[in-house]
Order: sequence, then structure tokens, then C-alpha cells
Amino acid sequence: MKITFLGTGTSQGVPIIACNCIVCTSTNAKDKRLRTSVLIEVNGKSFVIDTGPDFRQQMLREEVKNVDAVIFTHEHKDHTAGFDDIRAFNFIHQKKMDVYASVRVQEAIRREFSYIFSDFKYPGIPEINLHLLENKLTSIHGVDFLPIEVMHYKLPVFGFRVGDFTYITDANFISDLEKEKIKGTKVLVLNALRKEPHLSHFTFDEAVKLVEEIRPEKAYFTHISHQLGLHDEVKKELPSTIELAYDGLKITI
Ligand SMILES: [Zn+2]
Ligand SMILES: [Zn+2]
Repeated sequence: MKITFLGTGTSQGVPIIACNCIVCTSTNAKDKRLRTSVLIEVNGKSFVIDTGPDFRQQMLREEVKNVDAVIFTHEHKDHTAGFDDIRAFNFIHQKKMDVYASVRVQEAIRREFSYIFSDFKYPGIPEINLHLLENKLTSIHGVDFLPIEVMHYKLPVFGFRVGDFTYITDANFISDLEKEKIKGTKVLVLNALRKEPHLSHFTFDEAVKLVEEIRPEKAYFTHISHQLGLHDEVKKELPSTIELAYDGLKITI
């Protein structure tokens, strides 16, 4: 299984428009963070988790030629705004895109991309097969995805475990029951927004603590704010088992 970090930034991305802070003006490529998403390639299939506003740019940068399914964590705009661009894959492969989303996320997609569902479709709009995603093991193109329901303040969000890989992007609480699903994972990706407390995201310290509790072989932090600090400085504060993810990082599991 190959994982590509398509984006590792929080909702506004890094740099933030008009911000002059040291992170936003850094010349280090690892301080340039598009909105959070990953590409999972396994058994000859390709899956994208979330289609944020930078989806098109991410597909072009990584030269992604096919996506078998899009799987949504939740409906916030930084995870859905680029959805229209899946139509490029419709045109190239002449087939509908499989899309997996919870009832609530499906409602948001139907509302925010209503033209996709209209009775009189304008030619060239996205063509999708929408599948219901529930909190139970789901086989997607022959690959098992185990949803993990985490809390993003009051909003339930899906993380996913695929074999020895677990991906959780927008959380500040995980129940003991859901944590059981993560245990034994070799690689854990976790959101770590910044050092100061936040209403809906784990802080740096909270994320480190959770990694110490779960004890994966390796953890990667994502969904990072400019407020966390410079990549090269922050990484010095981490134990050897945890890395700060960056855009374009690839790992094989
Ligand atoms: Zn987010
Ligand atoms: Zn900034």
C-alpha cells in the first residue's frame, strides 16, 4: 500500500492569503501546505480521501491518472470544495466516479453541488455513483475500509483504517470504543493543528499524547496551521516515532 499526502494544511492552507508571519513567508517547500487529503494506492486501485479546494492542483502535481473512488470524512468545505473537478476522470475514463459518504455528507453534497443531481443535466458536469457510508467495515473496490467515528467538536467525522494504515484528520475527541479500532495499526495519521487549544482539533500535545497511548510504529501529523510553526523547527520537538507530514510525502506500508 502506498500513501501520498496530497495536502497537509488546515482549512485556509499555508501560506494564508495576506499573512506575513514567518511560516507563511517561509521559502521551505515543507511549509507550503494545501488542504488536507491523501491518496491511497492498494491492490492496483486508487482512492482519494476528501476533495478539498486544492484537489485539481493535487491531482496534477502527483500526476494521478485514475481514481477508483472518493471517500469523504465530513462535509466541511476544506474537504469538499474541489469535488467538481472529479469530472476530469469521468471524461478520460468514460465512467462514473464512485463516491462514499455518510447520510449527512450526502445531504451537503446534494445541496452544495445541486446541479449534479438536477433532472436536466448540463453537459459535462460530474457523473457519480453515490454510495452510503455507515460506521461499519465497507469493501470499496475489494479493499476494506473501516470507518472510525471521531468527534470534531460536535460533528461526527469519519477516520479510516485500511489494513495497517489509519487516517484521522479532523478530531479533538475519540471514544474508547472507536479507539479500539485503531489499536495495532502500524501507521497512524493524526491531526495536530497548533500548540494553543482549539475547539475542534487536537493540539500538538494532545496528538503526541494520543500517539503515545495508541503506540503505532510510526505516526504522522497533518491538518497543520501556520500557527504550529516552521516545519524544520517543530520536527525537532517530536519523538523519533512521529513525523510532521508535508505535501508530497509518500510512504509505503
Ligand atoms: Zn478540515
Ligand atoms: Zn501566517
